[in-house]
Amino acid sequence: MSAPPSPPDPRPNLLGEPLAPLEALLAPLDPRRFRARQVWEAIHRRGVLDFAAMTELPLALRQALAERFILAVPEVAERHRSADGTTKLLLRLADGASIEAVDIPDRDRRTLCLSSQAGCALACRFCVTGFWGAGRDLSAAEILGQVWAICPPGPARDERLNLVFMGMGEPLLNLAPLRTALELLAATIPWRRMTVSTAGIVPGIDALAGWPQRPNLALSLHAPDDARRDRLMPVNRTYPIADLVAALRRFPLEPRRRITVEYLLIAGFNDALSDADALASRLRGLKVKVNLIPLNPDPVLPAEWVTPTAEAVEAFQRRLMRHGFTATVRRRRGDAVSAACGQLRAFGREPRGFRRSQLSL
Ligand code: SAH
Repeated sequence: MSAPPSPPDPRPNLLGEPLAPLEALLAPLDPRRFRARQVWEAIHRRGVLDFAAMTELPLALRQALAERFILAVPEVAERHRSADGTTKLLLRLADGASIEAVDIPDRDRRTLCLSSQAGCALACRFCVTGFWGAGRDLSAAEILGQVWAICPPGPARDERLNLVFMGMGEPLLNLAPLRTALELLAATIPWRRMTVSTAGIVPGIDALAGWPQRPNLALSLHAPDDARRDRLMPVNRTYPIADLVAALRRFPLEPRRRITVEYLLIAGFNDALSDADALASRLRGLKVKVNLIPLNPDPVLPAEWVTPTAEAVEAFQRRLMRHGFTATVRRRRGDAVSAACGQLRAFGREPRGFRRSQLSL
């Protein structure tokens, strides 16, 4: 028999606390304001998770902190490494919920694909997370805790780290914790190396536009017209393409920056050269680059959903380039461990299959 789950630790977790609340929490223990700054620096710049190791603090304060607070990071429950070096991680949260993150090394760079929610309510037809349905929002500590579980700040982090919120969930439906987490992560990771990908939540895009510092924005567009986008992404009925394009047009960009438009390619559905033409006319005048994502097949998707041939993908890419757009093709990584885009479901779940029939194009 396995051990009964231990009751959750009642002490507050300081990992997701910005400086101002940290000052308020520490004030009763030590009135000097620079103490909170010292704790913050130890956590977010040097990666220290043990109060006892914060030796710049007086011993009594270290002990008082350890009695009252914790610094907790999601637990790595499983780790699956693919031959190409991509590692998919199953992370267990304090309440037993699980999320996935993917660690993608690439020469001197390393990209972490992170989750913003445990599950997703948007039910995009091609997405395995959506297939399994809604979960809950992650807290700021859980969002940034994924980075800590994989590659915490400090001397051991030697590659250039990029973060992309393209794992489980819709980041712009969990904006306040996301913002707190990004602001804390910005202590060691520049904003321009963090990207938030959205299924197209217009009020979320506009909220992001008002932040003093912003991550890169990526939009999952996937179809050149509302008729087809409605079929792929129910959220399009709330925020149709014209509204999305208008939101992208008013999104502030630093010089030389571009918004990424992600476009899933499904054979025979949206991969015709005429679709590339239609996509180009919708995006005309926007500062965007297009990232083409050949569909990653999965047992929960209908059998008629097929990945286009490499030739079809390349022809689509060339057509967009002829229209003057930068277009890249997302390389498939982590196939062998089902870590590819849209395949994050939290391990162990087997396809139920009954939705297959409702999923036909
Ligand atoms: N909710 C956000 C972020 C999570 S999805 C969003 O929609 O952007 C991250 C990316 O993976 C999106 O572009 C999504 O469309 C893509 N994706 C989902 N399922 C996929 C699949 N089966 N094959 C390829 N890409 C997929």
